[in-house]
Formats: sequence, structure tokens, C-alpha cells
Amino acid sequence: MKSGWVERDAEAMVAHGEKSGLTRDLALRVYTTRLLGRDPKLVLHGGGNTSLKTTARERFGDEVEVLRVKASGADMAKLGAEAFPAVRLAPMRKLRALDNIGDVELVGIERANLIDPAAPNPSVEMMLHAFLPHKFVDHTHATAVLSVIDQPDGEQKCAEVFGKRLGFVPYLMPGFGLAKKAIEVFERDKPSDGLILSKHGIVTFGATAREAYERMIDMVTRAEEFIARNRKSGALAHASRNLAGEAQVAPIIRGACSEKNAAIEGAWRRLILEFRGNESVLNFLRAKDLNRLAQAGVITPDHTIRTKNWPLVLPVPENGALDQFARAARERADEFVVRYHRYFERNNKRVGGGKHELDALPRVALVPGVGLFGLGRSKQEAQIAADIAEAWIEGVSNAEAIGRFESISEADMFDCEYWPLEQAKLGARRELPLAGQIAAVTGAGGAIGAATACAFAAAGAEVALLDVDFAAAEREAERLGTTALPAPCDVTDASSVRTAFDKVVKAFGGVDIVVSNAGAAWQGRIGEVDEEVLRKSFELNFYGHQRVAAAAVKIMLAQGTGGCLLFNVSKQAVNPGPNFGPYGIPKAAALALMRQYALDYGADGIRANAVNADRIRSGLLTPDMIASRAKARGVSEKDYMSGNLLNREVTAEDVAQAFLHQALELKTTADVTTVDGGNIAAAMR
Ligand SMILES: [Zn+2]
Repeated sequence: MKSGWVERDAEAMVAHGEKSGLTRDLALRVYTTRLLGRDPKLVLHGGGNTSLKTTARERFGDEVEVLRVKASGADMAKLGAEAFPAVRLAPMRKLRALDNIGDVELVGIERANLIDPAAPNPSVEMMLHAFLPHKFVDHTHATAVLSVIDQPDGEQKCAEVFGKRLGFVPYLMPGFGLAKKAIEVFERDKPSDGLILSKHGIVTFGATAREAYERMIDMVTRAEEFIARNRKSGALAHASRNLAGEAQVAPIIRGACSEKNAAIEGAWRRLILEFRGNESVLNFLRAKDLNRLAQAGVITPDHTIRTKNWPLVLPVPENGALDQFARAARERADEFVVRYHRYFERNNKRVGGGKHELDALPRVALVPGVGLFGLGRSKQEAQIAADIAEAWIEGVSNAEAIGRFESISEADMFDCEYWPLEQAKLGARRELPLAGQIAAVTGAGGAIGAATACAFAAAGAEVALLDVDFAAAEREAERLGTTALPAPCDVTDASSVRTAFDKVVKAFGGVDIVVSNAGAAWQGRIGEVDEEVLRKSFELNFYGHQRVAAAAVKIMLAQGTGGCLLFNVSKQAVNPGPNFGPYGIPKAAALALMRQYALDYGADGIRANAVNADRIRSGLLTPDMIASRAKARGVSEKDYMSGNLLNREVTAEDVAQAFLHQALELKTTADVTTVDGGNIAAAMR
């Protein structure tokens, strides 16, 4: 591992910091923290922490000595100086006289000693930074170091690799006890560069930011070189041929790893998937003793909150035998859940009860021959789980290559997983109504489609925006944030629809809600219209819906957790307008199509509903058309647009809200919701 220190960048950071009143030390503290944070081999997703001992001015008083320590859960790759709350150091150090202190009291004392009372909570490992005397202290969970120390003879290996440069602190749960043990070891052994925290990570320190940082790089490099020198290769099973791809297995896994909501019939707790199938993942999955390794535990304690203690291990999915794979996946997922409940009960009893059980669903699934899936309540959580699973694979593989991987005990993992300070990193979770669900919207580049995608994303769903105009889908996806997925999709072409749904499944693991919205209007007096025009309209306004719904149902059946098909049928489906047959007739057929889906798939928990909307400003009803229609009727544009019982203009957002309601109404199917401001001639009868 090479040092990322670049003198010019460091000085630029100092100069930039000066403008906002940062000292040189603090600017460099931010600089090297980011250097550590940007390398996933050192820290991942809020893990790791750094600190600086300096001075600060009290509101009404003198300068005091403070610890500027990284805030709990802050991402080291991106943070700024504000993510280093300043805590008065002297009162923190006095705590060393105590034998023990409760978490709540400790956090209270920390907060009472913040210079800025509104600052974020300091890192859960703050006391370790406070007790060590060094000006700069860096702590990471470097994967290579973990491979060396997560061993039955970790202490010996540590001495061999790091000599007297690092002291060895036996495993204790992060927090006050570990901090006290660490300073004891430091004072006894006087290591020159830092400490190893057994089965957890590495600490380096120094008089300058650069010294502490480069000692970290130096130590991690030693670990990497040791692994390279001592590597022996493990036994691999033969690679299987003719395997199903990730798009085939993902919906099966997603369904197997969903949980029925006991309180609301028809509701499920679902997860989003993130796939990884690179060479090192695939090699690991070929290990002969994969089952032993999979049960061995985490590489560092704070991973438990993201991945749980063990992954779900699934069988090899042979092509053509997916039914068998699906049965096995459900069985193993059920076993996983039962085992998790038992683990919780056993350990909750051990600690005297009072813990609240988290959901028991797996967060990592291993599929030999295919790859791994991270699972989470959102795409972002799934990505984090997948990143950590990849680091786990690397850590375990290398540990096995130089010895035998050994994690902390089950009790230690439980204590971390259910430590309130770790849980706090996940943030207060107010779950949105569509959290864990995946919605695909066709015609998402247009007004109604875009508004619908936006409403579903705001309700917590992961959304895919499908449109024949890919640039428009991309533009709308960008407005929705990083996880929204744009995909080209021509609903008049079966292979384009298949490709688009494959893309959705690869990105999120499946689909739960489909809004079949793409459409276009053709006109003509029905007895005289060219048959070609009628056929064209049917291709888009009827067969388009059929292709999209059929592709979605296939995925929903593989998941086995129901689903929701929503169709945009026009007012024309109910109340035809003169010379509008080429548009209204296929829309009437689409209304019948919706009812047929409701009928044929109700038993599978798949609901089908439609929105019958009228007179929305969109690609179908352009400003020019509005002007000409209003003129033809001799009314103003405003009156034309709000010519309904309520005298209100209906917007794309109104239609989006109707779709959203239908997605949430778990007991409603074969329904048409009218969104037209009131048009008695178009009322359903
Ligand atoms: Zn740590």
C-alpha cells in the first residue's frame, strides 16, 4: 500500500482551511482522514476514526485543551472540520479512574463537555483517542491487518509482523473498557507506532498528521507483504457449468428473503439487492469448506450491524432446475431466520433481557458459481452490505491463506450488534410506506410518468424510469437522486421490454410495482381511418401494456410476494370522444386487460388497477393542442383545462397520487380511479 500524501495537496488544504479559520493541524487532520477514508482496504462506510489534540476557546473564557475527534458514523472519505466535534480533554481523562461507566452516562458526559453543544456525537471509540497521549491518532479496520490478527495465534503473528512497533490489546468490545485496556498496554509496552486491537483493527499515532498516517500505511503494507510471502492456496471445488445468471436467481432470492407482515394481511417486509460477481468473489465461493467459512463470523465487530454475523449460503443454481433452487433457497432462508431468532433469544437472556430484536432476514446471500448479493431496506443499504461482504471475503480468504480465520465469539458479536451506540450509527429509522419495494414506470420521461416516479421515490420505493426516449428517462432519473435507474424501453418491442426488465432486476433484485403508463394518441373517424393507424395505436396502447405486465408478472411470480400492476387508461376507455376511436378503443381494451390480470393473478397476491385521467398537460396534450381545442369550443385555455365539475385543472401530480394510493391499497384490485375533476359522462358505471 502506497502513501497517498501529496505535499502540494496538503498545503492547498492548509491554505483553503486558513480562509475559514482552521488551524494547520486541523486542516491536515481533515486531509489525512480523507486519505484513509477513500481507500476501502482501510475503512468502509463510517467505520474507522481519527483525532487531534489541540486547543479551543471557551465561549466566555480561556483556551482549553480539547480532543477533536471524528463524529460517530461520519464518512471519512468526505468529511470536513465540522465532523470533528471538540471535547474538553481534562474531564475525559479523569474518567480513567473509574472501573466502568454506562454508555448513557458516558455519552452524557461527552456531550456535556462539547465546546459547541450542538456538535454531533463523538465516535464510539472516542475514549481510546482521549487516553492516548499523542497529538494525532488514526484508527482503521484495514483488511490486510485483520487477516493477520483474526487468527487463533493472532498475538504471535502480530509480534512476527509488526515487532515492537505495535502493542497488542486483547479483544474487548469497543468503548470504555477497551480504551482503558489500550492505554494500559501502551504504558506497559511503549510501542513506537501504535496498537493492534485484537480481532478488530489497528491504531497508529504520531506527532504530526503525516507521521500518524504514514505509520498506518507502513503497518498495513507489512501485513500485505506478510500475506503475500506466506500464502498457500486452499482447496477449490470444480467450477460448475450451465448456471443460471444473476437476473434469474435474484427474484427468487429476494422472495425467499422477504417476510410476511403478521399485522397486515398482504403486506411484506422486502429487501433490495445489490449483486457482486467478480473473480475474487467467485473464487471464494468455490472454496471446499465454504460452509465452515460462512459460519465463522465477521472480520471486525462493527460489520455486524450491516451484514449480521453470517451470510445465507445458497446452492448452485443449475440452469433448467430453478424450481429446485427456489425450494432450497426458501428452506435455507427460513432456517436462517429461525437460527437468528434463537441467537437473539439466547443472547438476550444472557444480558438480562430488554433488547429489541432486529429483523431476522439475511443481509448477505452467497450463491456459488454466480456471486454474492448484499441485501438492505434500500439500494444504499444493500450496496453497503455488498461492500462489506466483499471486504469480508478478502479478509477471510487471506486469513485462511496464511493460517485459519477466527472471529470473535457469538456473544461478542451480539454485544456489538445490539450495542445502542452502534445502532445509533444507522440513524433514527422512520420507514417510508414503500421502503424495500421496487417500482418500474414506463413512459417515465413524460409528464405523468415523471411525476409518478417522483411520488413513488418520495414514498421510499427504489424506482426504475423506462422510456423509449432514454435521454428523457436519464434526465428525470437524475432529478430523483443517485439510486434511480433510467432504462431505454420501447414497449412496442418485446425484446426491448425484456431487456429493460432484466436491467431493473440486475439493479435492484426484482420488481413489485409496475406503472404501465407509456402511450400516445391517434385520431380519425373510425369507419374511414387507415387500418395501419389503428394497428399502430393497438401496438402501443394495448399490446404495450400487455408486454410490460407480462414481463412484470413473470418476475413477481418468481418472487412469490405478490405485486401491483397499475395501468394508465384514458377517459377515452370509458367515455369515447368523437373521432378518437383509434386512441379510445385500445384504451378500452387495456381496461379489460387490467381486469383480466386482476382475475388471473389475484390468487398470487398480484393486484391490478387503473387510473382513468383526463385533460392533463403532457406530451399528449401539448400547449398547441390546448390552444386549438379551447378556441374550437370558444372558451379560454384556463376554462378549457378546468372544464369539470370542480372547475379545477387536473395535473400530472394528481395522477401520480392516484397511482400511489393504488399501490398502497392492499385490499383493492380491478379498480379504476377517476382523476378528472369530475366528468359525469365519464363516471364509472
Ligand atoms: Zn474500530
